Amino acid sequence: MPPIVAIVGRPNVGKSTLFNRLAKRPKAITHDRPGVTRDRLEATVELGDRIVTLIDTGGMDFDAPEGLERQIVVQAEIALTMADVVLFLVDGKAGRTAMDDEMAERLRRAGKPVIVAVNKVDGSERIPALTGDFHAWGFPILPLSAAHGHGLQDLAETLAKALPEKETPGEEALPAPEAGIRLAVLGRPNAGKSSLVNELLGQERLIVSDVAGTTRDAVDVALVKNGRRYVFVDTAGVRKRTRITDGLERYSVGKALGSAKRANVAVVVIDATGGVGVQDKRLISYLDKERTPFLIAVNKIDLVPQKDMIALRKDIQDELRMCGHVPVLYISAAQRKGIGKVLPMAEEIWKECQIRVGTGALNRAMREVLDKHQPPLVNGRRAKFYYLTQASDPPPTFVFFVSDTERVRDSYMRYLENGLRKLFGISMAPVKVVCRASH
Ligand code: GDP
Ligand code: GDP
Repeated sequence: MPPIVAIVGRPNVGKSTLFNRLAKRPKAITHDRPGVTRDRLEATVELGDRIVTLIDTGGMDFDAPEGLERQIVVQAEIALTMADVVLFLVDGKAGRTAMDDEMAERLRRAGKPVIVAVNKVDGSERIPALTGDFHAWGFPILPLSAAHGHGLQDLAETLAKALPEKETPGEEALPAPEAGIRLAVLGRPNAGKSSLVNELLGQERLIVSDVAGTTRDAVDVALVKNGRRYVFVDTAGVRKRTRITDGLERYSVGKALGSAKRANVAVVVIDATGGVGVQDKRLISYLDKERTPFLIAVNKIDLVPQKDMIALRKDIQDELRMCGHVPVLYISAAQRKGIGKVLPMAEEIWKECQIRVGTGALNRAMREVLDKHQPPLVNGRRAKFYYLTQASDPPPTFVFFVSDTERVRDSYMRYLENGLRKLFGISMAPVKVVCRASH
């Protein structure tokens, strides 16, 4: 993923002019059809020897922005959550305003690299007079004339220098947990995946970007909500708002699993009116076997009469008893019922995935579960349990070192898993329990 440079600044300072310059786009594209805002928000741009994703936060289409103040707050929030470098554009002709100061303050607090470009410095002789005011903030300052194209080279170089080091190719780092999580929305055609994603995105109207390369099969969409960043992976088939069902979309469990692997947490959408179908079951049991963190969203409950809800819940519970830890939400994407729980639930699961237990606590826990329920005799002997460790990667993986793995049966493994879940408070995430022979 290329690093992200976000342009912020109050209206009329020249953000879209600059954006189009850097993106080498003709002016006309700026004022595209309303609704098709994405193109004008974002472009892949070369800055020196680096490729970046440039975002114009000012071009974003917020629903009911409550005044300019609010826009500044939202812009800053997006920029600071998503961007690797913030390009703060100000108007040299107008001079420094209170709103600029407000933005500067917000940007400073986040500690990301900020470059201030003072725009509308159309003649070089006036540079000191027009830029002087802005030095007080303590950010690097560059004079610029976006309209005439002066200062672009310097700006590009300065931005490129401020970017994070290049990642080694192939090493696509997942964002740190505090940066939010990656979600894959899976399920059969017509279950309501796109409706759900659209509702989640629409709720905040902060449809930020298609993050990765825009190939047809792997379009990632990011959402910033409450200062947290969520990425929906592989949304090509998911995102369409008014797609005519073309019959081409075939459900592939393999593809779904591939998407799940690119995500931290999967959301499996099931159509309440169809119940848990064979394909749903297949997907769920694969996810479970692969120890993928996931939740289930039973959608379209608006179509289920109230009197049938209890039966529905019971049916679903029965169908899913093979993975009792997986949380189930009942939602209606169409009526926006219950969808507010989806992201918090996914985060909760991901948090559980990252639980780390210290060695002392692990081994006390092992004693406790063993004492409560001894390993059964198998062929006249019991396995001896020596030691318990946790592997470093999520989801929680507990490795028991035992005298004789042959003597530990699946049912006892399940007992161990449940015991550890209880002791460590892991109720929704998958847990792996492994036995290794130790002599
Ligand atoms: P935005 O609302 O921040 O995206 O600003 P725009 O890019 O729409 O520009 C606002 C106005 O400033 C437009 O009338 C532009 O033509 C003008 N403008 C942009 N850059 C420059 C510049 O470098 N010099 C001058 N004099 N005007 C500029
Ligand atoms: P996808 O193929 O899984 O992405 O499913 P869509 O989101 O395209 O939804 C399929 C159809 O179900 C569309 O006609 C939606 O309007 C409809 N739909 C989605 N969610 C709901 C819901 O919660 N209630 C009802 N009644 N219809 C829904």
